[in-house]
Amino acid sequence: MSANVQSTIETLKSTFGDRVITPAAASYEASTNQPWSQSCWSSAGAYVKVESAQEVADALAIIKQTDTKFAVRSTGHNFNPGFSSCDETGIVIDLSSLQSREISVDRSTAHIGAGNRWGVVYEWLEENGLSVIGGRDSSVGMGFLIGGGMGAVPNLHGLGADGIRNLEVVLSDGRIVNANHQENPDLLQALKGGGTNFGIVTKIDLFTHPLIKLQYNITLYNPDNYVEINKATVKIQQEMEKDPKIGMFTNYNSAFVAVGLIYADTPEKKPEAFEAFDLLSASDAKISMACETTNGTLLSLAKVMSHPAINLKYDSLTLPSQTFNRRYVGTLTTGFSEELYTIAYNAWRGALKTLPEGVMLHFTIQPLGPECVAAGEAKGGNIMGLDKVSQVWWVFTVEWPQEGSDEASQKAVDSCIDALTASAKSQDLLLNYLCASFANLNQDVIHSYGLENLKKMQEVSRKYDPEQFFQKLQNNGFLLRDA
Ligand SMILES: Cc1cc2nc3c(=O)[nH]c(=O)nc-3n(C[C@H](O)[C@H](O)[C@H](O)COP(=O)(O)OP(=O)(O)OC[C@H]3O[C@@H](n4cnc5c(N)ncnc54)[C@H](O)[C@@H]3O)c2cc1C
Repeated sequence: MSANVQSTIETLKSTFGDRVITPAAASYEASTNQPWSQSCWSSAGAYVKVESAQEVADALAIIKQTDTKFAVRSTGHNFNPGFSSCDETGIVIDLSSLQSREISVDRSTAHIGAGNRWGVVYEWLEENGLSVIGGRDSSVGMGFLIGGGMGAVPNLHGLGADGIRNLEVVLSDGRIVNANHQENPDLLQALKGGGTNFGIVTKIDLFTHPLIKLQYNITLYNPDNYVEINKATVKIQQEMEKDPKIGMFTNYNSAFVAVGLIYADTPEKKPEAFEAFDLLSASDAKISMACETTNGTLLSLAKVMSHPAINLKYDSLTLPSQTFNRRYVGTLTTGFSEELYTIAYNAWRGALKTLPEGVMLHFTIQPLGPECVAAGEAKGGNIMGLDKVSQVWWVFTVEWPQEGSDEASQKAVDSCIDALTASAKSQDLLLNYLCASFANLNQDVIHSYGLENLKKMQEVSRKYDPEQFFQKLQNNGFLLRDA
């Protein structure tokens, strides 16, 4: 460890005491190994567990004074090494103790500390008869919001970022400011998708909705029936254009295809839109139900979707004894067509053949429609430059249990994305946007928002961080310095 980092740690300790987790601390390994993907487990110089916005400002002041590299961590679900982690030359500012939760007197706003997870937030709100637009997995944290935020039923109220009413932000000069439509509106817009470029978000105020009830199921089909599965997926996407209460995903694995059908209501009779899958469900294409039709809420769905729960069912179909720890993910955004889905299937099948034994490659079709984009615009707009069309946010994920398969695994994801990009382009279905929450660090997220939005973000960055502290000293994270 360099003398500079050592001196930063000593200064941090004088302010934060044993909340500075150094290699000598018993909890150091737990902090190092907190990120969801083992590919992100690197041993930082120290982890600082801050407990208030003022403490974030104090930590930043020390880091700035000593010119030390740093990263910001909410819950560490981002898949990219170095985004919410650092090596021994840097400090991780750990926001997980920012656990405040309050509902405004008029019940229109939920005030949420940046260290919360969606499972806890949903549970607390549901006890109060309320919902907010958050993640589909109970363990994911608030970083979801500043990366875009694809929820369970995106066309109903827009993306997670669109549900932000106000952000409390610590700037590089130590000021703690609010960003909303009245105060610092440019900062608010930039943070709705612009990530970690401008300041550290310590509290988020979200628009509440009366409790959102959901009906959902997850069915596993045989991948050999991909033609029918793709046809039915397209049909449901067409129905989504007429009914914003529909949400869905189609997730291709080597042993099964998991199709999640979600409806933002609890009708007695199944929504007609979902009939597209009836024939398949009645045939031997259906393997089993991973989740029977359930009348529930965002919380119950997020619990089902949270990885340990769903993996229990999936693992029995794949590799029971394996734990998939290392991960690499990639994304692209396209319009939709059956032909494109067949191309994706073939590219994925081809990539599977290149993988060493024990590596799992899967991809997910995540649709949203123009209603989602319009809902965002109605709430003041975000910075992501989304086209107002029906689209798919694709996610290709490779997971492997051991070191040594990294290169082949990553190549497999990249090859699928390249094939799909070329095909979407030739069908005039390729869209510019790359979702920050699903992109890998080789993907140009910042430019995908469009030149006008890039300029806006650069202006906001220069205005609120004139010394460019977040660009110069931050470890990584789709930063403007790389644009
Ligand atoms: C199991 C799983 C399920 C997921 N499901 C969904 C889903 O349904 N929909 C979806 O859109 N995405 C989903 N994601 C992706 C997820 O939204 C992103 O990985 C997101 O970045 C994770 O948030 P986090 O709170 O863990 O952030 P972290 O991983 O801690 O941080 C992510 C990035 O944001 C920065 N950051 C975090 N908090 C702050 C802050 N308060 N202020 C400034 N910068 C900050 C970090 O420095 C880092 O660059 C999922 C990921 C996983 C692993």
